[in-house]
Amino acid sequence: MVVELISVGTELLLGNIVNTNTQYLAEKCALLGLSMYHQVTVGDNRERLSETFETALKRSDLVILTGGLGPTEDDLTKEVCAQVMGIPLVEDDHTKERIKAYFKNSIDKEIPDNNWKQALVPQGAAVLDNDNGTAPGLIMEKDGKAAILLPGPPNELKPLFQDRVFPYLKKLQPEVIRSQMVKICGHGESQVEDKLLDLIDGQSNPTIATYAKTAEVHLRVTAKASDEDEAKGLLKPVVKEIKSRFGDDVYTTKEEETIEMAVVRLLKKYELTVTTAESCTGGLIAGRLVNVPGASQVFREGFITYSNKSKRKLLDVSKSTLKKYGAVSEQTAREMAIGGVFAADADVCIAVTGIAGPDAEGEKPVGLVYMACYTKDKVQVEEYHFKGNREKIREQSVVKALDLLRRSILKHYHS
Ligand code: ATP
Ligand code: MG
Repeated sequence: MVVELISVGTELLLGNIVNTNTQYLAEKCALLGLSMYHQVTVGDNRERLSETFETALKRSDLVILTGGLGPTEDDLTKEVCAQVMGIPLVEDDHTKERIKAYFKNSIDKEIPDNNWKQALVPQGAAVLDNDNGTAPGLIMEKDGKAAILLPGPPNELKPLFQDRVFPYLKKLQPEVIRSQMVKICGHGESQVEDKLLDLIDGQSNPTIATYAKTAEVHLRVTAKASDEDEAKGLLKPVVKEIKSRFGDDVYTTKEEETIEMAVVRLLKKYELTVTTAESCTGGLIAGRLVNVPGASQVFREGFITYSNKSKRKLLDVSKSTLKKYGAVSEQTAREMAIGGVFAADADVCIAVTGIAGPDAEGEKPVGLVYMACYTKDKVQVEEYHFKGNREKIREQSVVKALDLLRRSILKHYHS
């Protein structure tokens, strides 16, 4: 079953509002296992809407339209769709009563004349009561095609869809699509693909898609099945195989878990406290950690030590180290991590010092970053050469630092 979405509204074309309805509906349709090849946006214009709808009906089995169901002159969706499908509009007593009832509770005492237009429905259409507005949703069927018309305001569309459209679509489309996320840190996208080439090449169900993120790669494994259990059964062995190939590089298989959430989860698990000693990332790592609800259990304080003086003052980095090796060096990173642990009386410290640019510092190039992690009396230091502008270098540093933190905890505390 192929579904197509049409968003109606000139304000969408002008960029005045963000088309969140399409994102919402597309996600729901995918969950239902419906195929979607087109999403179209068209203005409040009779001819163009008519043409768009006609085209959609030819190439798709089901068309969902949002917006333009209101009472005003520019709201044309219902009239145009009924005309294209050759269905006359008739007055619906039930909707008329609902409009009356709606206005009884509204601040407007008089029902505006044009609101009665909303009581007209295409003959034979299923009328979906809208509990949050006056325009009902409508389902029209003819010649094996169906059109679903929904009001534009998201707070009206979403409950209507969830309560009334979803059950209708579920009946049309008994298949389900389920997907599982695998998030990897420590490889580039092509490296990941290389390692999975045999799985990706041979795939049909489940399929594997890769998405490159900043210093991370996300894999989405998707299965189509007749029910939830069957889909899970298809996903499980593939996800297991991916995990076995990437080992600790996989930091989560949960859709909503970010790398900082994975770090906080591990810190809680092993009852550890963490601190941060940041130079070029300027507090971004601490910020990411504190974003995680419940971070207060594991994070008490962090340090932003941008100048040499503050590295000495707050983290006790020695004057001779700074002089001999410079602020951006393996040795300084190491001392920052050790100093952080002692200054904050924490179990673990992640320290970062580097050159985010745009200017290089002497012989040291832009993108050179050292990070050190203190865990269980051991310090692990890593050197990176990041590419990109200042923002990109700092972003990559943050993710890699969080990953180093995660790996160090696993290495020293995971038996
Ligand atoms: P109304 O009765 O409010 O006129 P309607 O069904 O006619 O509803 P529109 O007039 O097209 O819908 O849009 C009304 C409002 O709904 C818009 O101003 C906007 O705030 C929101 N809206 C419409 N379409 C979308 C969309 N695709 N994504 C997000 N919001 C939308
Ligand atoms: Mg409107």
